[in-house]
Amino acid sequence: MLVTFMESQDLSSLESIGLRYLTIRQTKMKMILKVQDQILTSLRDFLRKEGFMEILAPIIGPATDPGIRGAKQASIQYYDAPFKIMSSMILYKQMVVSSIGKIFALSPNIRLEPLETAKTARHLAEFRQIDLEMTYASYEDAMGLAEEMLVSVVKDVREKCSEELKGLGRELKAVSKPFKRMTHKETVELLRSKGHTVSYMEEIPWDAEAALSAMHQEPFFVYDYPLIARGFYDREDPNRPGILRDFDMLYPEGFGEAISGGEREHTYKGVIKRMKLTGENPEKYGWYIQMLKAGVPFSVGFGIGVERLTRWICGLKTIWEAVPFPKVPGIVSP
Ligand code: AMP
Ligand code: MG
Repeated sequence: MLVTFMESQDLSSLESIGLRYLTIRQTKMKMILKVQDQILTSLRDFLRKEGFMEILAPIIGPATDPGIRGAKQASIQYYDAPFKIMSSMILYKQMVVSSIGKIFALSPNIRLEPLETAKTARHLAEFRQIDLEMTYASYEDAMGLAEEMLVSVVKDVREKCSEELKGLGRELKAVSKPFKRMTHKETVELLRSKGHTVSYMEEIPWDAEAALSAMHQEPFFVYDYPLIARGFYDREDPNRPGILRDFDMLYPEGFGEAISGGEREHTYKGVIKRMKLTGENPEKYGWYIQMLKAGVPFSVGFGIGVERLTRWICGLKTIWEAVPFPKVPGIVSP
């Protein structure tokens, strides 16, 4: 009786999230978690082979990533100090690469995303990134690494989880590099030609992002975002003022953004200038600013959302099917 009820629950419905203590036992859920385990194994294997070292991610700190597109940071009281829960570990990545030149971490992030993002089916309030950083490389190098990583993960999952993919009804095609690359400007032009309202000066809105993704059958890159669209840590091209040396990778088939990354603004002067532009108060970033004064190496990096990757690989309707204990914006759940 309980088994029939549990198996009949639609994992993509919002109501089922509250019943996760039952649906966690569903056959479909087990298959998804098996694929996710393989994804994590493959990502780690690939990065170690590329010379990256896994480090432990921070969970809390005096400051965290402000560049989170309208989401709010979550705070905790850490004894007498107000602390943030990591919205991303970007500031810490810049710290650790001063010691070890190629690092990655499975980084848990909290972002209190706007309520309407529960409808995008690709936003969680708690998610994880495989977040990596490397010194003295370019954003072209980072895009090259990202596409190789995806090719490798898809190959592994197709080989090692064929039963699960079949059970999930997912026909996952092999991907091959190089992926298509479009500038942000070209992307805006393409979307405008299809009737979308998009700005040359901003991130691509959620609905246009989904439409853009649906126009593609293979993963692809959008690069060279406008300066004011992103955080102070993304590096402006010295020869092309107003343009950042950064990128996103998007999944095809309507699944949307996979990765954001870029070269880092790592100089003290450069970061202060950028903070002023976005109205950030440098004093809020105590240790980070002191670190930049002491000097950190030039680096590039990116983060890939683990739940979004799982969703795309498994071909799931929603992101909350791609995580054992989902926290969907605005919804109280186990
Ligand atoms: P960002 O640097 O903000 O683009 O975040 C890096 C990556 O984390 C994104 O490309 C997504 O794959 C993932 N991500 C960001 N925000 C969320 C969210 N609210 N829910 C799930 N995944 C997310
Ligand atoms: Mg992004």
